[in-house]
Amino acid sequence: MLKRDTNGVIKFREVGFFKKRRLFCFHTGKFYSQREYEEEEYDILIMTQSYKPVVVMDEKSKNKRWWMFKNMFYWENEGYTESEVKALILDKLQQKKRKVENAIARTSNQKIKPKNGRKPIPDDVKIFVWQRDGGHCVKCGSQEKLEYDHIIPVAKGGSNTTRNIQLLCEKCNRSKGANLY
Ligand SMILES: [Zn+2]
Repeated sequence: MLKRDTNGVIKFREVGFFKKRRLFCFHTGKFYSQREYEEEEYDILIMTQSYKPVVVMDEKSKNKRWWMFKNMFYWENEGYTESEVKALILDKLQQKKRKVENAIARTSNQKIKPKNGRKPIPDDVKIFVWQRDGGHCVKCGSQEKLEYDHIIPVAKGGSNTTRNIQLLCEKCNRSKGANLY
C-alpha cells in the first residue's frame, strides 16, 4: 500500500555556536528520521524530489518507508522501487485531477431554471403598459381578448420590463408567434 502522509514535514534545527548552521530532518507526527541533511544536501533533496521520489525516512523495523515527491510525502510498506513509487503517485495525482475536472464539469452543466419556465409580469408593469397602449391592441386597435406580449420573447432573452411588453389582441399575438418560426 502507498498512501499520502499529510503530517509529513521537513524541519530544521540550528547547530554550532560560533558558526551556526542548519540541519534538516523529516518529521511525521512524533516520528522523525535518523537522517539529517546539511544545507547543501537539503537543496539537492528538494531539487531531486521535484522530478523523482526520494526516500526521506526508512523504518526497517516496520518495513515502512517515507518518500518525498513533488513537495508531498507518502509512505509505503511494499518495498517498492523508485520508479514504481513514481508511477503510483503520478497515477494517483492524475485520478485526483480527473475527479476534480469531472466535478467541475458536472456542476457547471446544472442550469437553474425557475419554476414554470418564466416569471410573471409584475402588476405595476401591466398597469403602465395598459395605460400607455390605451387598452387597445397596438397592431389592429382591437379591444377584444387583449394579452401582454413580450416584444422579444422570454425564451430569446426578453425581459419583463415596460419597454419589452406591449398589448396585443389574441389574434395578432398568435400571428406574431407564427411569424417568429
Ligand atoms: Zn390585434
